[in-house]
Amino acid sequence: MSSSKFPADFDLQRQAFPGDDTPERSAPEDTGLQNQSGANAPWLDRPTCPEEYRRLRLCLDSLSDREILEGYRILRDEKVPRAEGWYYPNVRILHGTAFEREKDRREQKIWSEAHDESEVARWYREAREKPCAWWVENHIIARHALTSCMSCGVCTSLCPAAEFFDYNPRTIMEIVQEKDEQTLVELLRSDTIWYCYQCASCKVKCPRQNSPFGMLSSLRQLSQLKGYHVHSIRGRQQVAARHLWGGNLWNRACSLYYRDSHPETHRDFGPRHETLYRSIEIAFRQVGACPDMSGSLSARKIHPETLQEVRRLWHAGGALFLWQMIDEAAARGAVEDGLTIDEYHDKAKTEG
Ligand code: SF4
Ligand code: SF4
Repeated sequence: MSSSKFPADFDLQRQAFPGDDTPERSAPEDTGLQNQSGANAPWLDRPTCPEEYRRLRLCLDSLSDREILEGYRILRDEKVPRAEGWYYPNVRILHGTAFEREKDRREQKIWSEAHDESEVARWYREAREKPCAWWVENHIIARHALTSCMSCGVCTSLCPAAEFFDYNPRTIMEIVQEKDEQTLVELLRSDTIWYCYQCASCKVKCPRQNSPFGMLSSLRQLSQLKGYHVHSIRGRQQVAARHLWGGNLWNRACSLYYRDSHPETHRDFGPRHETLYRSIEIAFRQVGACPDMSGSLSARKIHPETLQEVRRLWHAGGALFLWQMIDEAAARGAVEDGLTIDEYHDKAKTEG
């Protein structure tokens, strides 16, 4: 990344917006400002019943691309001065809303149409038409993940997912080695491939240098490319993951927006997280971070130039193409279930 492209007043190290004060530390208390900024916009509502979902969708569909993109940008950039710098109250309001997801879908479509399809996306497009066995032999991660499994079971014995679910990485490696198309399709349509925590313990211990960890990540991509993921509960949840983590990456260049990692919905983070979350403002202050302010560290509101740079990577690496595949599969599922895409998303997110 060449620093010469940035304005002279852009502080690359702190990632602050040009002209903004760059605070040493940042920690706004919750003042209720969020409720005053943009909260009257109906497209920021979080619906709770089918009628509200329908109203929300009608409202979003009535907005042009420009209205959506500009409206989002204006809200996102609204800021108020605080003792320690600029505070952006709407970042929190926008996060995880149907409005943000709609903005992302449209923005990514515009982005994809404006840029040549990346080499990876072209390869994905061809690969989705081929048999699953072809993928296993040709996808670079799958190919490297499987040399020759001898069914020793070491991976399964130390796998944390195998302890809690009906899940066995050794069996998966056997299925992949056999390359039987029908069995592979059944595997891709099942919840099984989504149980892996991606901890990589199996990868480092396998005596044959196999990597169930890598294989699972490759099979997940294939499932999403072919649309098989919508046949399982965990698979359907990929639409929520694509918009939650993918939305954070697309809008904030960071997979977590830490304000919303509430212990009730993140029980897997454990009791220490619950303690930390209760005094989150103090924790932010201690590390000099804040999700809603200009400033340093990963929870910052990122500079637009940097965000553009990161977005180019999602495009080049094929993430945009995969996100589109997931959205298209979700749209088909919503039509089949007679739901709006927003209701389908929320249902998938809380299912199981
Ligand atoms: S540890 Fe390696 S060789 Fe053993 S079952 Fe697992 S993948 Fe196969
Ligand atoms: S990466 Fe997945 S398969 Fe491997 S040990 Fe961790 S949870 Fe198990």
